[in-house]
Amino acid sequence: MGLQGKVAIVTGAAQGIGRAIAESLASDGADIAVVDLDPGRAQETVAAVTAKGRRALAIKANVADWTDVKAMVDQVTGEFGRIDILVNNAGITRDGLLLRMKEEDWNLVLDVNLKGTFHCTKAVLPVMLKQRGGAVVNIASVVGVMGNAGQANYSASKAAVIGLTKTVAREYASRSVTVNAVAPGFIETAMTQALGEEARETLLKQIPLGRLGKPDDVAQAVRFLVSPEAAYITGHVLHVNGGMLMG
Ligand code: NAP
Repeated sequence: MGLQGKVAIVTGAAQGIGRAIAESLASDGADIAVVDLDPGRAQETVAAVTAKGRRALAIKANVADWTDVKAMVDQVTGEFGRIDILVNNAGITRDGLLLRMKEEDWNLVLDVNLKGTFHCTKAVLPVMLKQRGGAVVNIASVVGVMGNAGQANYSASKAAVIGLTKTVAREYASRSVTVNAVAPGFIETAMTQALGEEARETLLKQIPLGRLGKPDDVAQAVRFLVSPEAAYITGHVLHVNGGMLMG
């Protein structure tokens, strides 16, 4: 229970990787603000967290909207009194080859994945600085490092999240705020459900561990990075990809 008394915000926590992160941090003792576009599904995560004996609050917010994010952070401090952990997990894809990619799909993906991370970090940092400490984890992706045909917008957003992570880590290290990224490979969630059988087979051949990841594989990496044991780790990108990309 290394996170007893801590308060965590997890964005995009109504399902998938975000829900697994919320549950895993709650297992370690943290109270959770479950932030998502979909308040109905967010309630399922709230129920899973409260079943572990922790407090949870569902907040409807679009991370791409600064007004929503500011109101969300004010609500969390109002209800819980502090913020120790921020996990920027909300993310979307709008895939297509570059020549066919519409500007609106480029903008949408960058707005949610990159600007959303900027907004939440900017809104939470003053609270962490006042508390003289905190931990931020940004969910990037293996394709932010490798590239992936059909994902110019998504891979650019995730590469940028890695740059943002390292810069914010340098800016606030002196105030004991750590900022790290977790870069998942291919994980079994709604995001990867659309993969056809053939694409899945091709993908599996590139993964030495021979399977797609589970949301909890990612959640355990996040849990470590926000734990007191990881207090001396900042600006790091932790790959959770079954060996698909090494180094
Ligand atoms: P998911 O199952 O689609 O869940 C994402 C959640 O984020 C959904 O509940 C979604 O709500 C919410 N969300 C989307 N846009 C939002 C916004 N503007 N504001 C607030 N919440 C928003 O995705 P996932 O697979 O768990 O992915 C989670 C993170 O891991 C993402 O950053 C993704 O890029 C990253 N990742 C995933 C994989 C993978 O293989 N699955 C691999 C590498 C990285 P709605 O459903 O209502 O839109």
